Order: sequence, then C-alpha cells, then structure tokens
Amino acid sequence: MKKTRVRFAPSPTGPLHIGGVRTALYNYLFAKKQQGDFILRIEDTDSQRFVPGAEDYIIEAFDWLGLKFDEGPHLGGDFGPYRQSERKAIYKQYVDQLLKNGKAYIAFDTPAQLEAKRAEISNFQYDASTRESMTNSLTLSEAETQQRIANGEQYVVRIKIEPNQTIVVNDVIRGQVTVNSSVLDDKVLYKSADELPTYHLANIVDDHLMLITHVIRGEEWLPSAPLHVTLYDYFGWTDTMPQFAHLPLLLKPEGNGKLSKRDGDRLGFPVFPLQWTDPQTGEISSGYREKGYLPEAVVNFLALLGWNPGNDLEIISPTEAINLFSLEKCSKSGAKFDYKKGEWFNHQYIQQKSNEELAELFLQSATDDIRSSMDVTPNNHFDKIVKIVGLVKDRVTYVKDLWEQIAFFFIAPTAYDEKTVQKRWKPDSAEQLTELTDVLRSLDDFSAHHTEEFVMNWIASKEYHLGNIMNAFRLALVGESKGPHLFDITEIIGQDETIVRLERAIAKLK
Ligand code: GLU
Repeated sequence: MKKTRVRFAPSPTGPLHIGGVRTALYNYLFAKKQQGDFILRIEDTDSQRFVPGAEDYIIEAFDWLGLKFDEGPHLGGDFGPYRQSERKAIYKQYVDQLLKNGKAYIAFDTPAQLEAKRAEISNFQYDASTRESMTNSLTLSEAETQQRIANGEQYVVRIKIEPNQTIVVNDVIRGQVTVNSSVLDDKVLYKSADELPTYHLANIVDDHLMLITHVIRGEEWLPSAPLHVTLYDYFGWTDTMPQFAHLPLLLKPEGNGKLSKRDGDRLGFPVFPLQWTDPQTGEISSGYREKGYLPEAVVNFLALLGWNPGNDLEIISPTEAINLFSLEKCSKSGAKFDYKKGEWFNHQYIQQKSNEELAELFLQSATDDIRSSMDVTPNNHFDKIVKIVGLVKDRVTYVKDLWEQIAFFFIAPTAYDEKTVQKRWKPDSAEQLTELTDVLRSLDDFSAHHTEEFVMNWIASKEYHLGNIMNAFRLALVGESKGPHLFDITEIIGQDETIVRLERAIAKLK
C-alpha cells in the first residue's frame, strides 16, 4: 500500500479564510487516520496577488490550532522546496515536455489582441474553435515562433485541449463527474514574463512529484478538476493520479450563498483564525484567537461543518475525530456556518478546562489594568483566582468574559445598580443588615458552609423574610443581583471585607 500523503496548498494572498482552515483540518484528519503525511505547500506563483506576511500567518494559525504539518516550508522534508516560487526550474522542464509532445503550444497574443477578440466574438474562448485564428505556434511557422522568442517577445504556453472528448473526474464525495472537453478552454500554463507556471501546471506537477495520494480541497476547485485530469493524462501520470475529494461550501448563517467576511462583520463573528492587519490599508480583521476562542473549540466546531460522524456526536477530541473521520461521511451539500454553535462549543470547552488552566488562560489574556485591579503579582493569590474562576465558569462563552463575572471579588462596589436597589432594598433592609453584620462579626469560622448554616438559623429564629435578606445582602456585596452562591462569595472575600461592604451599603442606601 502506498503511504497516504495529502497537502494543504494555500496561495498566500491574504489571511486564511476559515473555510481554508476547515479544508486543512479535513486533510489533517484524513492523513492522520491513515497514518499518512500532511504537507504544507505554498502556492505563490501569482506574484500579482502575493501578500507579505500571509505565509507566516498561515503557519502561526495552524500552530495555534494544534494541527501539525509533517513537511512544509517551515519544516523542510524530502520533497522540497515547499514554496512554488522556489521551484521554477522544475516546472520549466514539464512545460517543455508538453510542448515537445504537442500537448501545449506557445501563444503571443497581446492583452489588446485578446480584448479585441472578446469584443468581436461573444463568449470568446481560446480553444479548438478559435485557436486557428490567433497568434500562436500552431498558426505561425516554427521559424517565426523561434524568431519572436529570440526577439524577446513575451509569450504564454497554453494547454491544447482536444474537443469533444469525455473527461471523467472521480470524486470521493461527489461521485463521477463527466464533462465534455469542448467546454474547456486552452488555459495558460506558463508565462514567459515572470518565468513562472500558473496554478494549474504547478499544482499538478507538485502533486505528482510530492507523491500526493488524495487531493482534498474546496468545492470552488471542482471546475478545474477536468483540466487537471487532462494534464495527468498528457503527462502520462494517470496511474498515479490522486483521488479527488471536493468539500462542500461553507454557507451564510442565514439566507443563501457563500459565507463572506461581511456576514461576520454584520453578525459579529470572525471569519479568520487569527487577527489580521492588512499590510496595505492597515485595516484590522478579527480572529478567533483574539476573540477568545479556545483552539480545541474551533477545531471541533469546524470538524462538524460538512462531516457527520453519526450518533449525534458533538464534543469530539482530535483523537476521536481522527479515528472516526471518513471522506464518505462528508456531505455534498453546503454547510451553514452556524456561528452560534461555535460559541456553544467554546462554552463547552471552557467547562472542560480545569480551574487552574482556566485561571492561567484568564491571566494571560488579562490587560494590565485588570491585573493591577486584581493585585496579581506573579503568584499572588493564584489559588484564590482559581477558586473564583471555578465558581463562575459556567456563565461565560469566552475566557475574557470572566472578568465581568469576577471583578466584584476584587473591586468592592461603591455604587449600586438602580433597578436592583428599587426592587431588592426594602424599608427594613438597613436595620436587618446592621443586625447581620453583628451576627457575622461573632463568627470564628467563616467557611461558606458554616456561615450559611449560622445565617440561616439566625434568619429563621428572627422569622425574617429569607429572600429579602439574601437579596439585599447580595446587593451589598456585588452591587447588583448577579454572582455565584452568596456564601462562596463571603468565604472568598473574607469576614472583614464582607462586613465593610455591608456597612458601606447600609450607609449609602438607608
Ligand atoms: N492554491 C490553491 C488554493 O489557494 C490550491 C487548490 C488546491 O488545493 O488544489 O486554494
């Protein structure tokens, strides 16, 4: 059996779209399931669209997500270089091979000439029906072709598509797709201007040379597949042609059509793994990492957008996903990008973290202001933070939401939420809480359990209204009506602070 080898082959034209991340993830899961190799290849032959920083961004994104490549420009490997711009010499010989075998030809048509043709013939396509009327090595003599090249005239190499042939693409997800070759045009494979091949040629040559066994990529590449199958045929590589699998599109969360950055801006979710600053305009696009997602949650969320492992499984570890993954279980139809589900996953993964891990993550993401409010010097009351985080983690979607839930532990309220005061502060609250401060002062053991028991007994013996006391008590400690179990709060902030807060509320609200 041949070793499974798949590649993720992005063009570094900007930040990696979340759909690209999903494509890479499916390649990864598939490769790891077969104990195969997962390769990063940078397809940077289009110098016009090259964006500096995009390659580093891609590598950093997968690092963050924990999806490890086996080979790539940053890692090396036996099949390098892994950047197409460094493989110029390799492609040239394959272009020459096609020319020599009459499978491709040289064309000199200038952009202006092509433009004129398009104006003259509606739906103009450079193919068997038109190539005879163009300026190329099929219509010029060999001598003239050579002379033009010798004169330094720019040219392109085009594939020569034979009309009326049946081209079959076998796709693992879509089944057999049949196309009549007459719909294809004689695509440009190489440009003398930059001595670089186009995407189609470089992609096929590299898949062949890198021993790629499966091409798993987005549905938008399906229309290119018949051309790619033809190229395999022209090179005589049909026997080792990779299996194709074209993944379904990611669709808008609502309505129809392809997921776009605008959907994210409108509904408030990122469409990129990491934040990206456009090097030209300085425009900043938000990323999952900066938004506060855990990488595990993003991976789990994306894994299920287009693949269904069955059994209603939702929370799946990477190892489980690898074990269960199959291309046959990937859907043909587009997957709605349910970003709310992404938030749900993040919430779930936050619950799975230990309180220590979560406190650590929280401190990493906390601003200097927050850190100084908390008075955190490296290990100062880390244990306290761990405890607090554990009390409120079920209330947050993002790690950074934790601050809103826990700030009152560190910063005593000095103002009280108006509405809560109206509703919760009763005419006798001041008097009752004054009594309560005396009760609390008398306690030797301020543990949650003990304090609760004592206070409950006191309320019962006085026949006070339990709800009224507890609500006013919470208002005094928190400043509003939120927060975890009251006696967990008193235990953590301690006896003195509890009493100080009660006294301050009484003074302000009575
Ligand atoms: N360079 C192409 C892209 O940007 C690769 C397509 C493929 O995987 O063949 O997606």
